[in-house]
Amino acid sequence: MNLERRLRWARHGSAYFARKLNELPDAEFDAPTGLAGWSRRHLVAHVGYNAGAIARLVDWAATGVENPMYSSPAARAEEIEEGATLSVSALRALAEHAAVHLDVSWRDLPEGRWAAEVRTAQGRLVPAAETPWMRAREVWIHAVDLGNGGSFADFPPDFLDALLADITGLWQRKAQGPALLLRPDDREAEYRVDIDGEAPHVVRGSTVDLARWLSGRGCRDLKADGGELPEIGRWL
Ligand code: ZN
Repeated sequence: MNLERRLRWARHGSAYFARKLNELPDAEFDAPTGLAGWSRRHLVAHVGYNAGAIARLVDWAATGVENPMYSSPAARAEEIEEGATLSVSALRALAEHAAVHLDVSWRDLPEGRWAAEVRTAQGRLVPAAETPWMRAREVWIHAVDLGNGGSFADFPPDFLDALLADITGLWQRKAQGPALLLRPDDREAEYRVDIDGEAPHVVRGSTVDLARWLSGRGCRDLKADGGELPEIGRWL
């Protein structure tokens, strides 16, 4: 996957999230989201702090000095809880400034440092070139989680393809079932999760509907050969 494309997805997604946030009236920030225990306030704080956390990884790549996304999962959760108590205008400013800061960090990262390894919040070592992809997933999907009109149907088609490959690739690496064979009806591609000794559930539908389902954002218009859609696990 090339770096320019990943940066484009991240910047485009960041603009999409910002647009949805601009369209959200102040009075609607207290409403719950589909994410357990999170209001829109929590979600906006998280998306802002996530930009800061990813900027720390870019800084780590630039300097070679370890700079983790979060000091611990508890610190991450606590920061979000506190962030959720900010005023609406402070939350809007947090999201906007953090996104700009991250973009500047990417712009200033010397070409030779994109291959430098950094560690994700899940503990995986990845090259800095992975950070725009990490951010792209966050901003596009959380724009939908805001729940004011964002839709997987608005995602760039090649980003949806990459999302399907990313999620099935992760489950394959972890050998996380169920075994799946996804057949988008608007693409030539297919995506598999092979689990020893299990016949895969064949699931068909549009790329948009498959990506929504795999990322845990609901099931629409999908068909499973032989009946019921399987229960799938969490992604991130
Ligand atoms: Zn997130």
